[in-house]
Amino acid sequence: MGSSDSSLAQQAVIGHWIGGQALVPADSRLASVFDPARGGVARQVVLASRAEVDAAVRAAADALPAWSATSALRRARVMFKFKALVEQYADELAALIVAEHGKVFSDAQGEVVRGLEVVEFACGIPQLLKGEYSEQVGTGIDMYSVRQPMGVCVGITPFNFPVMVPMWMFPMAIACGNTFVLKPSERDPSASLLIARLFKEAGLPDGVFNVVHGDKEAVDALLEHPSVAAVSFVGSTPIAKYIHDTASRNGKRVQALGGAKNHMLVMPDADLDQAVDALIGAAYGSAGERCMAISVAVAVGGIADALVARLAERVPGIKVAPGMDSSAEMGPLVTRAHLDKVRGYVDAGVAEGAKLVIDGRGLKVPGHEQGFFLGGCLFDHVRPDMSIYKEEIFGPVLAIVRVASFDEGLKLINEHEFGNGCAIFTREGDAAREFASRVQVGMVGINVPIPVPLAFHSFGGWKASLFGDHHMHGPEGVRFYTRAKEVTQRWPAGIRAGAEFVMPTMK
Ligand code: NAD
Repeated sequence: MGSSDSSLAQQAVIGHWIGGQALVPADSRLASVFDPARGGVARQVVLASRAEVDAAVRAAADALPAWSATSALRRARVMFKFKALVEQYADELAALIVAEHGKVFSDAQGEVVRGLEVVEFACGIPQLLKGEYSEQVGTGIDMYSVRQPMGVCVGITPFNFPVMVPMWMFPMAIACGNTFVLKPSERDPSASLLIARLFKEAGLPDGVFNVVHGDKEAVDALLEHPSVAAVSFVGSTPIAKYIHDTASRNGKRVQALGGAKNHMLVMPDADLDQAVDALIGAAYGSAGERCMAISVAVAVGGIADALVARLAERVPGIKVAPGMDSSAEMGPLVTRAHLDKVRGYVDAGVAEGAKLVIDGRGLKVPGHEQGFFLGGCLFDHVRPDMSIYKEEIFGPVLAIVRVASFDEGLKLINEHEFGNGCAIFTREGDAAREFASRVQVGMVGINVPIPVPLAFHSFGGWKASLFGDHHMHGPEGVRFYTRAKEVTQRWPAGIRAGAEFVMPTMK
């Protein structure tokens, strides 16, 4: 690796990575990649044609026999080297995230660490792949189960975590003996190329990890490709449903994680300081562009007035600045189109009659007037029939819904379309226990606002937040990227029983 790798963000055209080589096809369609803090186009990314997707899948298919036959121990050794390189280049990766996504540098560093934790988990693959063995299930007969790789696996990922979300997928897939084609978000494509180079330096054979950039054309080509065995997707709900249905129809195993609207139930007895701190970080961190962001606070009973008053004091004080500014607490949104969409929701909330307590629409960041910045917005008296309650905004907008009781709050959360994450803030153990047991949501925090499972547990939501059977990484990741094989063996010892015509039972 030379120093030139950390200058990926200066490249004019971001290309693919196929069979261990960078590839910028001459006549590709291109998409603009923006500098969210400055507001202009920073570079272009190629959008793969069907032929380019086919080349990437073929490279992965060609690499599959040797890689899947490589021992789990050797695969783990490559993963250990990759882990060390990711640590070495963590700040370069974080800087690439900031350059194209816009989040603040310290948050981007945290993203890299959360991704790295999955690589660390994948380093234990020999242990994770251990099967089961039953000796003497019948006279002289043993039975054992093993898990074998699926084949060529595909990852299609969203803009909001360009390092962490791909790392929920490919370390597990590759450690399990599969080969992989990543189709990252075309909005922040550069980090995936540095990852590919680090893998090559770690000794990963060419073709085991490939990157194709693109839009719907590339995605459809991947979903329909006969050599693709499994598809992992993270993104918005309509696309997740489309991916799930299309990939399933084409005979792929698929897990498709969708959007979210995460609620925090704030009980009357909650520690107000803790709840306010938690909401400020969870609603406005990363400008609300997190699938686990809290976008609705459900205030139970008499706590609402104090909660809103304290939030209203804090929100205007959030330091909004370019992500590389060390004092920044919140950066810009990813693109102007996304900024316009989020502003549109704020306008809609006002028109629908919610009370806009703090209005961030007028915010200007000196020297970055064209940047995609929006100040934190706070709505009170939000009702369940409003679009700002029903739909995912994915911006720095927090809605307060007031309810009379725990049961009313729980019912509200359970009736929402999404079920990714949620939290309860309380000092009462029985309320917390009841909440965790009855809430229809995949990931639950008790006095923890963003309950993201660590790498050795699995990540996934319920309802419209996940289509498919498996959550990501952790034990579920091993199951998703492998299939079970059951072997029954008997070694002939000179006894011939003759042909049997009845259902065999063990003797
Ligand atoms: P998106 O759905 O627009 O894009 C995700 C991926 O799908 C990208 O790679 C994109 O190129 C591709 N894509 C977009 N339109 C497509 C189409 N019509 N056909 C085929 N492929 C298409 O999502 P995004 O805006 O990049 O990311 C934000 C969304 O991701 C939010 O909804 C957020 O909640 C969700 N998200 C969910 C999780 C989770 O764990 N559930 C995690 C992170 C983000």
